[in-house]
Amino acid sequence: MNVPRTGRTEKWTEVGQGCFARRYPSFDVTVGVVVGADGLLVVDTRGGPREADELRADLAELSDLPVRWVVDTHWHFDHTFGNQRFADATIYGHETVPGALAEWGEHARAALAGRSPEWERDMADLVLTPPTRTFASVSVIDLGDRVVELVHPGRGHTDGDVAIRVPDADVVFAGDLVEESGPPAYGDDSFPLEWPSTLEVLTGLLTPSSAVVPGHGAVVDQAFVTAQFGDATAVAETIRRLAGEGVPEAEALAAAEWPYPTERLAEAVRRGYRHLRESGAPMTGPEGPGPGRRSLPLLGQ
Ligand SMILES: [Zn+2]
Repeated sequence: MNVPRTGRTEKWTEVGQGCFARRYPSFDVTVGVVVGADGLLVVDTRGGPREADELRADLAELSDLPVRWVVDTHWHFDHTFGNQRFADATIYGHETVPGALAEWGEHARAALAGRSPEWERDMADLVLTPPTRTFASVSVIDLGDRVVELVHPGRGHTDGDVAIRVPDADVVFAGDLVEESGPPAYGDDSFPLEWPSTLEVLTGLLTPSSAVVPGHGAVVDQAFVTAQFGDATAVAETIRRLAGEGVPEAEALAAAEWPYPTERLAEAVRRGYRHLRESGAPMTGPEGPGPGRRSLPLLGQ
């Protein structure tokens, strides 16, 4: 495929009636659109004003309706740093997103600015633009002729992941709770022990014929999400078992079989051990948390 240097892909893919996805080579982000009678809803705005300008131009291929709603699937730069180009829309996000952008946004801006002169210029233009409409658990948007449900199924990739369900099209935009182009990203703001139960809730939004649009990569289905739930469960249960057996954190990756390459799991282990310590779980001895235990409540995170 001849991908232009700007990072644009060739076309939108209709993943369900009036629901579109477009996979951008830059960070391999997959952006979503839901077309309603009253306007367009856009899922995620890409990694800066330059990329958002490309997105706005690409949206014109789909419809000349205005973008009236944006949903940020979570706070990460590659999903929210284009928000400023959609400031005329109502921007929805989980209630934790404004705080996360305030705390971590400048750090991400500086890191991106160091990538190249082009990124340095773009990050100079960046205006951190948090969601204007936040919610804790669920919300609904009326597009005129159809409704879209926003659900925070729990913590996982971040503490503010949101899935967007379009019931009349059987489409779910899952953000980075589901990734197709690589293993799920366990970062330094992830919740590896809670991710499985969050995916279980997400799975409850799906039917066997649902189209699931991941935050990165190609469109998948219920079976894919169920498989990722199994792998995420294996990661969480392995962390619990090793911590319960008293295996030192530094030795954990080498001490077990993992469903993903261990170089992708360093933060999962670090965060998992930390959350177990904070929850007061016994870290040694046979009475430690064993397989099958549900996530422990996490305090003070
Ligand atoms: Zn992310």
